[in-house]
Amino acid sequence: MLDSGATLGLHSVEQYTPLIGLEAVERILQKAELLRAMHVVHVSSTFYGGGVTEMLTPLTLMMNASGIQTGWRMMQGTPGFFTCTKKLHNALQGEDLPFSDADKGIYEQVTFENALRLDVEDADAVIVHDPQPLPLISVVPEREAPWIWQCHIELSSPNRPVWDYLRGFVEQYDTAVFHLPEYAQDLGIEQRFILPAIDPFSAKNRDLTGAEIDECLAFHRIPLDRPLIVQVSRFDRWKDPWGVIEAFRQARKVVDCTLVLLGNTAVDDPEAKVILETIHSSADERLLVLTVDDATLVNALQRRAAVVLQKSIREGFGLTVAEAMWKGAAVIGGNVGGIRRQIRDGENGFLVDTPTQAADRIVQLLTDPGLKQQLGANAKNTVRENFLLTRLMEDWIDLLAEKSGAPH
Ligand code: UDP
Repeated sequence: MLDSGATLGLHSVEQYTPLIGLEAVERILQKAELLRAMHVVHVSSTFYGGGVTEMLTPLTLMMNASGIQTGWRMMQGTPGFFTCTKKLHNALQGEDLPFSDADKGIYEQVTFENALRLDVEDADAVIVHDPQPLPLISVVPEREAPWIWQCHIELSSPNRPVWDYLRGFVEQYDTAVFHLPEYAQDLGIEQRFILPAIDPFSAKNRDLTGAEIDECLAFHRIPLDRPLIVQVSRFDRWKDPWGVIEAFRQARKVVDCTLVLLGNTAVDDPEAKVILETIHSSADERLLVLTVDDATLVNALQRRAAVVLQKSIREGFGLTVAEAMWKGAAVIGGNVGGIRRQIRDGENGFLVDTPTQAADRIVQLLTDPGLKQQLGANAKNTVRENFLLTRLMEDWIDLLAEKSGAPH
């Protein structure tokens, strides 16, 4: 039988004491105590792939471990539905594309079907993530509990007609949560800002010994005879895999190195397969394209890499950036969106606008052995102070307490 006590112990706030201090741990536990009677339900489009899933997995576990009953419902969507919602995702990140009446029909019909079996009547708060399940709210007209919509997408310049269409759903919520004030919109409801965070104890982020790293990289046949340049990302055009390959090609002319592109495909991202095929055609023995689903491999690569790239051209917040920074990696990030809040250029990593700038930074890092250590130490501190799961949970507890009228 499952030992839920032991399982939840793995996700307790207390285990963060060495990282955030006893005072912070006690403060968070006291706040959690006030929400003990609450039943919170998260709704997202998939349990697998992408940052929302990465974050909700430890967040829901830690909320339960802290005594707040927290559930997580998933949307069931058809491939046609996810094609439509990926269009919404791209349009919200600024792409100029139409969202036709037929698209709206599929989007609303599938959401309607999901709403029928959503089962949130006894929830004290419902938190809906991203555009996929956004219209659910319109099918639950009799609501007593607060409904909160959190958008994880970079919203600095959304496609206007698409945003205006979605706004009709967003404004039915009590509160909209974005990552950054820069993503605030002209809305008739309250807007709040909560940045994501990582679980430092997960298989992806926990400490690994040198031997564990070696074993994992050897198992996956990663060549270690040259410095490793790594990008871990869904195969998505916004992650700019072609820019990464271009930067690698330019850097290699100066210092030889190996590029590893590790990616997965989320079930709600139908474009990934096509992008993966085009990248595969660039692969050779020095340019590895991997699609292995292995959190320890992500961990080992981020730890062993001479340089971690996240050369996104749009990014609400780069979880991969926080993961790599936590490991003391030298991270070169795209100078966009949430990455700008994570990396202070030249202090705890580098920000770049073009493949050539990325190539120059790669060369600089490969030829200055002390630089990685210096940036990496600052990077780890940045994550410890700002981007650990306890901070995320405290932000949510504060918001939920406010919404539910609990003292806080
Ligand atoms: N990820 C992974 N394996 C992969 C690619 C990505 O585990 O092959 C994880 C990555 O470590 C991170 C998340 O997926 O935790 C991606 O989150 P991010 O915010 O970087 O991007 P998103 O996919 O949400 O746009």
